[in-house]
Amino acid sequence: MGSCDSCNSGNSGNSPECGGCSTEGGQTDISKANLSDDEKVKINMQRIAHKILVLSGKGGVGKSTVAVNLATALALQGRRVGLLDVDFHGPSIPTLLHLEGKRPEATENGLLPITIEGGMKVMSIGFLLQRPDDAVIWRGPLKIGAIKQLLGDVAWGDLDYLVIDFPPGTGDEPLTVAQTIPEADGAVVVTTPQDVSTIDVSKSVTFCRQLNIPVLGVVENMSGLICPHCSKLIDLFKQGGGEEMAKRMGVPFLGRIPLDPQIVQSSDEGRPFVYHHSNTEAAAAFQGIVEPLLDLR
Ligand code: ADP
Repeated sequence: MGSCDSCNSGNSGNSPECGGCSTEGGQTDISKANLSDDEKVKINMQRIAHKILVLSGKGGVGKSTVAVNLATALALQGRRVGLLDVDFHGPSIPTLLHLEGKRPEATENGLLPITIEGGMKVMSIGFLLQRPDDAVIWRGPLKIGAIKQLLGDVAWGDLDYLVIDFPPGTGDEPLTVAQTIPEADGAVVVTTPQDVSTIDVSKSVTFCRQLNIPVLGVVENMSGLICPHCSKLIDLFKQGGGEEMAKRMGVPFLGRIPLDPQIVQSSDEGRPFVYHHSNTEAAAAFQGIVEPLLDLR
């Protein structure tokens, strides 16, 4: 997947290969100029049918990888999808989609998300940093303001799904989004199978409960590895811990994704795994996890 030049030049729908993925804004957005941040968020979010938060209480469990591949799997099902990365301290979506160095264009309709091949719209705090290794050192109020802008000032247009990737934990970022868009459908909570992860990640479930965010389900990532040489299953990080945690916490379990070295490879290359390795067991697992999300009301 690459970015769609027509849409990114604000020339949406005007080239043969562009399906008009970025015809957002128009009159509604122009008339937003004098509105408060909260009002802009409200208007923007009314045009997005479903909002899904991707959370984890622990770093390194594959949360961003799951966010990218869930969003891509939804897009592959023909849905109009946006992907928002609010991980201020480690935005990895630009790398995972090979969009490093992209600069969203500021237009009178708002900041244009980067539209990639297939029509998915992407916005990351990483696009707004001067250099990729710049550190964001912000306290809560600054982050809250930036998140409201990413929801309200980005020209998302009409979408079926907005998938939002967060930093690990239960800090300002998920709290702000939960309070700013209380109508969000809910959270997908990502863990790996071992106790050191499930104990921390169960706190994300408690966080959702306290904020009345429905938990759409738990994803158990890095669940077993099929040996590429002998095809036997190796329980590198054990198996079943995420499912047990979901049961213990009384929330749905969405499925397991095995460890697959091709996920690392395609992530490093910035190529969404489910798109480029659609015939693998891990891609089938992602597709299975997405199924209940296709039926959200
Ligand atoms: P997080 O967002 O939780 O910090 P990332 O999505 O950045 O984690 O993933 C961390 C690393 O693990 C990345 O190198 C990614 O490619 C790799 N990874 C994630 N899921 C899998 C998987 N199922 N199999 C193999 N590698 C994975």
